[in-house]
Amino acid sequence: LSFGCTRCGRCCAGPWVGYVWVTPQEIAAIAGYLDLAIEQMHQTYVRSVGGGWSLREHRDNHDCLFLSPTGPDGRNCLIYPVRPTQCRTWPFWPDNLRSPEAWDYTSTRCPGVNCGEYFSLEKIQTRQDATAR
Ligand code: SF4
Repeated sequence: LSFGCTRCGRCCAGPWVGYVWVTPQEIAAIAGYLDLAIEQMHQTYVRSVGGGWSLREHRDNHDCLFLSPTGPDGRNCLIYPVRPTQCRTWPFWPDNLRSPEAWDYTSTRCPGVNCGEYFSLEKIQTRQDATAR
């Protein structure tokens, strides 16, 4: 399979409610990157959902709070070096790899799918393992 992000930002944007699940370790890594206390990080950027934690999104358009506005280079992730596993492993999520049809459907949501770098089965499995943690 191939994939190359075009930086359109669609995967991190609304218009629908979304969830970017984060572990306590990932929250701490983001807080460290932003030089924030953990409490401040929770108050501003994290919400509790069903016993887990998700990054907050803008109330009006449901874009991730860490997605920069559109610019000449596309939309950037403001915490890219410490982005959560869920973001690192897109689009190679188990659901997207379930069948050729599922992968085709993923390509309708993400213009980077079927473009760019070739990913071998081994490389994809490494990413899948990271998602399953
Ligand atoms: S939707 Fe796909 S191409 Fe667009 S930013 Fe997300 S990963 Fe990149």
